[in-house]
Amino acid sequence: MLSVEEYLERVLALATVLPAEDVSVSEGAGRVLAEDLAARFAVPPFDNSAMDGFAVRAADAAAGARLRVVGDVPAGASSAPEVGAGECARIMTGAPMPPGADAVVPVELTDQPMGDVPLPQWVVAREAVAAGRHVRRRGEDVAVGDAVLRAGSVWGPEATGAASSIGYATVPLRRRVRVAVLATGDELMAPGEALGFGQIPDSNSYLLAGLVARFGGEVLLRRAVGDDPDEFRAALDEALAADVVVTTGGVSVGAFEVVRQVVEGDIDFVKVAMQPGKPQASGLLRAPDGRPVAFLGFPGNPVSAWVSAWLFLRPLLRAFGGAEGQTELLTLPVRQLWRKAPGRRQYIPVRIVDGGVAPSHARGSGSHLVASLHLADGIAVVPEDLDAPGETVEVLLTRS
Ligand code: AMP
Ligand code: MG
Repeated sequence: MLSVEEYLERVLALATVLPAEDVSVSEGAGRVLAEDLAARFAVPPFDNSAMDGFAVRAADAAAGARLRVVGDVPAGASSAPEVGAGECARIMTGAPMPPGADAVVPVELTDQPMGDVPLPQWVVAREAVAAGRHVRRRGEDVAVGDAVLRAGSVWGPEATGAASSIGYATVPLRRRVRVAVLATGDELMAPGEALGFGQIPDSNSYLLAGLVARFGGEVLLRRAVGDDPDEFRAALDEALAADVVVTTGGVSVGAFEVVRQVVEGDIDFVKVAMQPGKPQASGLLRAPDGRPVAFLGFPGNPVSAWVSAWLFLRPLLRAFGGAEGQTELLTLPVRQLWRKAPGRRQYIPVRIVDGGVAPSHARGSGSHLVASLHLADGIAVVPEDLDAPGETVEVLLTRS
């Protein structure tokens, strides 16, 4: 029996880092940044006002000082009047500081009304300001050349905002990893189809295809096939166009384990010390052109497949992007106890309740409890040597 860490190491060894291409900053959510991005612009790019008010020379702006207004500086102004001794300029948030001025008196601290009013000729400051007050300095957030975004980080809205602010229109992102999802089982029917004796709807292939997309991959193929080796082999041949093939079902020790029958020899079938998800299969297959294709075979129980996807498929897909680092676990209090068998590490779907966790299904653990999975906010991890969670538990969040 392998530990989860030992097995994960084997899984990660199956990845090949994918090539990068330049993509518009506004696209590519979920893809991985291929190079560090150094700032082309300082942030902010010029000294500017943090408030709506009046730009002054701090030395002149004692409480009660009366200052002459020399002009207006709205945001986006292409020039600004010089502010001399005893003078000030009306200024808006984000507008460039006029030459000569070194502080801003917010409009609320003057005798002037707020809002859309004509430019006054004179302003009285009610309070003194120190030099630099309410001024955002050029480069105070980022200096030109600073590495702002790191290779290996996952692209998303915040990265888009950051890259835009430092002067990038396009960024080098790794190609999305292409994934084929094959569910196996003679009992599987398409969703919505009437069920005959012993039949169940296929939920795994849809569940996993959705997770692939969430993990930043592209679903090249999603299919449910029966337990007939020829049928599975034909689907697998098509699936080899992908970078990664993930299957569900047919990897344990029953009599009709189609995945095992077809790929045993090329692929390792192992037991991992986890519950659910003990039987696992992984290895490299070859596409007809000789290209390696990573293969992960998950057990068929939906909760097992879901947990396996979070523990193994997500890091594998990230590794194809060249992303480093493992998912962070949070430590949260346990709000409602559940049962656990000793010996194996337990991974159980949980909801966040009152800042802690409770099982997302009323019956606690159970690898077939697919209909409550959508309630889960995360996966709680209970160590091997415990027979119940303690007061706190480590949690992998699964909403994003
Ligand atoms: P297996 O790993 O093939 O022995 O399947 C284990 C259990 O998971 C059985 O109860 C199957 O009916 C169920 N199962 C297998 N594949 C799927 C699927 N695609 N969707 C929902 N349940 C499945
Ligand atoms: Mg099966």
